[in-house]
Amino acid sequence: QVVTRFAPSPTGFLHIGGARTALFNWLYARGRGGKFLLRIEDTDRERSTPEATAAILQGMEWLGLDHDGEVVSQFESAARHAEVAHQLLSEGKAYKCFSPQEEIAAFRDAARAEGKSTLFRSPWREADAATHPDAPFVIRIKAPQDGSTVIRDQVQGDVTIRNDQLDDMILLRSDGTPVYMLAVVVDDHDMGVTHVIRGDDHLNNAARQMMIYEAMGWDVPVWAHIPLIHGPDGKKLSKRHGALGAQEYQAMGYPAAGMRNYLARLGWSHGDDEFFTDAQAKEWFDLDGIGKSPARFDTKKLENLCGQHIAIAEDAALQKEIQGYLAAANQPALTETQSGDLERAMYCLKDRARTFPELIEKAHFALTSRPIEQDAKAEKALASVSNGILSELTPHLQNVSWTRDDLEASLNGFAEARETKFGKLAGPLRAALAGRAVTPSVFDMMLVLGKDESLARLQDAAE
Ligand code: GLU
Repeated sequence: QVVTRFAPSPTGFLHIGGARTALFNWLYARGRGGKFLLRIEDTDRERSTPEATAAILQGMEWLGLDHDGEVVSQFESAARHAEVAHQLLSEGKAYKCFSPQEEIAAFRDAARAEGKSTLFRSPWREADAATHPDAPFVIRIKAPQDGSTVIRDQVQGDVTIRNDQLDDMILLRSDGTPVYMLAVVVDDHDMGVTHVIRGDDHLNNAARQMMIYEAMGWDVPVWAHIPLIHGPDGKKLSKRHGALGAQEYQAMGYPAAGMRNYLARLGWSHGDDEFFTDAQAKEWFDLDGIGKSPARFDTKKLENLCGQHIAIAEDAALQKEIQGYLAAANQPALTETQSGDLERAMYCLKDRARTFPELIEKAHFALTSRPIEQDAKAEKALASVSNGILSELTPHLQNVSWTRDDLEASLNGFAEARETKFGKLAGPLRAALAGRAVTPSVFDMMLVLGKDESLARLQDAAE
């Protein structure tokens, strides 16, 4: 069974790069009937905060990246990590090193002066336990010294590292706390992780982590180190490219499905497919489709995909997501009446809205109430016809059964009788009904508003 994990350090919000890493792991597991686990790497006690953990969980929830099982805290397994270090010690695969900092620094200085490698070679590696002093020590792993270590990476290919470039890494500090590198390996092993998909900034760590796997005789997981995300200018994504936090995208009104689609395409491809559903993404996602070069973040593409996802979303789901957007954006929630109005209007709002603010702008006619305030463009459109026309129109519509066909026939007939075209009336009608120049179609608005409200708005505008 495939088991993947997302292992964020809780030192800040869930950023776009992390969200994509989580998504890749989620897709890989979900498409294979596997498990997707979440581990909070909170061993750095100074930089880890509960607020950051909460923000990461919230970001994942927004993106719909549900994980299996409990959230694992790395810090809570510290005793287990130490136990592994002691096991390696008792098996002779690790040793106690008593060299103090000054000795290590002196070793390095001397090596530098002689032009040799500055990797510390501890004199304690081969020392007899009987000679051990009663002094503080760290536990170091016995790194292989000959040959080379090959990381078989599914994205980067085989990455070979000469073993003479590896030092006897510390596993347990002198205060008995495990180092991060040990914690990651032990946790991944204990959690049964089979596939590790993570940023390629961790590729160097993989070589060192490999030593621990081999010393313990554990199976090495399948590794896929993915290139980082760059901004549109090709430089590493940073704050100056705009928003970095996943939740900032929620607050900007991007639907989660569009965000998932876009993030999945960011560094992974399936032929020429740009737009796809979650079901397709789960079915198609694989490690072969991950590119070797950094993907560039492109807001236009994101918006375009979001528009397509809004268009196909179910009304009720959109309704719910819009409430979440309003909360994230610190905007007042919809009242019950507004919710009902939005629900009735939803069918004619979904086309061509790329974000929720755009959709809400289209919904303005349904959410506002009389007297309708005209914006500048609407005012101009209203001024383009004589008031007479609108006041004649109201009685004309009085007897129309309020269906699309009848409304269409009736409005066209009305325009014809006045030797004009419906198109000429549309602008003023939009203005009268919505107070805006850009709206859903006049018929849709009339149908959503109903006869009484529509006629009242027309009447107001005629006066
Ligand atoms: N905690 C690491 C990070 O947030 C990830 C480590 C890993 O995936 O192995 O970058």
